[in-house]
Amino acid sequence: MKQITILQLYPNDMNIYGDWGNVLTVKRRAEWHGYSVKLIEYNPGDTFPESVDIVIGGGGQDSGQSVIQADLQSIAPRLTKLAKDGTPMLVICGLYQLFGNFFKTRDGITIPGIGIFNIETHGGPERLIGNIVTESEQFGQIVGYENHSGLTYLGKDVQPFGVVRKGAGNNGQDNYEGARVHNVIGSYLHGSLLPKNPAIADWLIEQACMRRFGAFEPSVINDTLADQARKIALERPR
Ligand code: GLN
Repeated sequence: MKQITILQLYPNDMNIYGDWGNVLTVKRRAEWHGYSVKLIEYNPGDTFPESVDIVIGGGGQDSGQSVIQADLQSIAPRLTKLAKDGTPMLVICGLYQLFGNFFKTRDGITIPGIGIFNIETHGGPERLIGNIVTESEQFGQIVGYENHSGLTYLGKDVQPFGVVRKGAGNNGQDNYEGARVHNVIGSYLHGSLLPKNPAIADWLIEQACMRRFGAFEPSVINDTLADQARKIALERPR
């Protein structure tokens, strides 16, 4: 059976509001598509694996971001090279911020990022919390849940991941949510994101298979439950 390798970044410190569900979803859907999955959990001090097909990272408290910041800098060259080579990646909230240039917290502490996204994040006066719906050309409506104090602003050459239909998104001002560059998606959407937005999971798997095997042969997956969950989530109040 063809195998793909998922690297989950910092599950001990960066994994809140169910973000682990993104890894489970990609793993299970890849298996349903007929691929076997090797899952590597990477925490500070671990050896960065030789070969990676998909990178997934979650959100965390400001304190969690401080814990992993030095290690993240140490693996930045590897992650940057993988990103430039087209490796599909999904990073949520706290790691989305740190895939940018920096996160300056409300306390005035600057946590440096690794600059894969040309974005910057500044701690805001209030937390932006609630259900969120965004829309992207590629994936249509995207549903999730956001909870962050950081306000993120996109720089040059960075596309948003989606346009906000309900909720705050990157900063509550410019109507953008998340960021995209190469095959890297950054987003504030927890939920977790992928169980209710399986098209994004399948896209990550497709990109990984195209790069590793030169082809992706999907199966037809029964998404009735995911569709029902999406429908309910779309109707929820903010
Ligand atoms: N600590 C960051 C913030 O509050 C990220 C939060 C998160 O990952 N949910 O903006």
